[in-house]
Amino acid sequence: MTSKKKTQSYEFGGVPGACAMVCGLPLTVFGLNLICNSKSCSIFLIPDQLPPLSDFFNWTSVYIFFGWFAFQAVIAALPIGQVHLGLPLKNGQRLPYRCNAFIAFVLSVCGFFVLIYQGYDPSVVYENFLPLASIATVFSYVMSCYLYLRSHTVPENELAEGGNSGYIIYDYFIGRELNPRLGPWDLKFFCELRPGLIGWVMLDLCFCAEAYKQQGEVPAALALVTFFHAFYVADALWFEEAILTTMDIVHDGFGLMLAFGDLAWVPFLYCLQARFCLEHPQSWSTPALFVILLMHLVGYTIFRKSNSQKNQFRKNPDDVSVKHLQTLTTVSGRKLLTSGWWGMCRHPNYLGDLLMALSWSLPSGANLLPYFYPIYFLGLLVHRFSRDDHNCQKKYGADWVKYCKLVPYKIFPYIY
Ligand code: NDP
Repeated sequence: MTSKKKTQSYEFGGVPGACAMVCGLPLTVFGLNLICNSKSCSIFLIPDQLPPLSDFFNWTSVYIFFGWFAFQAVIAALPIGQVHLGLPLKNGQRLPYRCNAFIAFVLSVCGFFVLIYQGYDPSVVYENFLPLASIATVFSYVMSCYLYLRSHTVPENELAEGGNSGYIIYDYFIGRELNPRLGPWDLKFFCELRPGLIGWVMLDLCFCAEAYKQQGEVPAALALVTFFHAFYVADALWFEEAILTTMDIVHDGFGLMLAFGDLAWVPFLYCLQARFCLEHPQSWSTPALFVILLMHLVGYTIFRKSNSQKNQFRKNPDDVSVKHLQTLTTVSGRKLLTSGWWGMCRHPNYLGDLLMALSWSLPSGANLLPYFYPIYFLGLLVHRFSRDDHNCQKKYGADWVKYCKLVPYKIFPYIY
């Protein structure tokens, strides 16, 4: 089925930007993981030669990756957990989503400890880190080809506005089809929260097990980073339903950007701090760790409270928890919060997320590379902010300008 080209404005630098991302994203994942290795972790000590190709592939990793993927897919298809409806689509339909990702998380963590109890050695994951990253990368590129091809078989109104430019590489990267579904699985929804996100915590846990094996204990810094990551993921999965109103689900098609991000970028880059703390143990005083923990708690409180406040307001503006807040009523009748967390700045949830991101890196001490995540995340959220701002400007027109005057700060109150 052919479709009219709809994409009006281009993101990520248009076609050249998409080409750069398609080639550059894996280079970043592998580059950082190769530079930050067990011997050194510094941009001034780049290994002078690449490991042999055999270090990037083996069958054990293929079995682990697909076994893990299948395990998550089976849980996602089980008729347990509540079914929630997504936001209305262009055709007025609301898709059902089975939310049981938190159960998947609990089963995965329990499964990890059961396997250890039964004598399985989690070192196999640590030792195969690079080949596992390779399989995840190859799989996300191949799956994106499938997604791109199948997007030509669906009706026009099932395509994402942003990924329908007619330029193959651009649409392949951004994603054409909004909600690709296969049997019981919504592919985007499944990949967003399960194999990569829970996989990230599994990698951290394997690093803890490796530390215990090598050093007879799990260093406090590594335990703290693992706790932060696990807490963040558990929180996202506990509030799984909230993802149904995010840009990724509502606005973006499913293409390489999300597939690679979900399956390779998140698990194999976000665990860098934990791997660093395993391979380069840091000694910290208890009060210092306590300050880091406090920073995480402050970040989490801002992140969770602001996200929940907006979700509650969108679900039911008359709920007692949000009824007292000041609002701006737009021409469309839809209201925008102008007090509470959302009166402090236009994206308080990003502020909280950034504070947490920083607290994940602090246990790595004064080493630059483990700070990749908060630095990159700042760039991502500033870019995401401008994408969302642009979308809201289109949606609300002059009312959005009025709203921006009422809430002038973007992410950091009194600063930006
Ligand atoms: P948001 O949850 O911030 O949602 C943005 C939408 O909220 C807008 O499009 C608008 O939609 C609505 N909105 C904006 N201002 C107001 C207001 N004043 N009152 C009511 N509604 C308003 O979007 P994201 O998906 O970007 O972020 C969700 C969370 O995910 C954040 O906490 C973010 O930090 C996190 N995140 C994490 C990433 C990671 O890699 N760890 C990556 C990306 C995001 P409408 O008016 O149509 O409802």
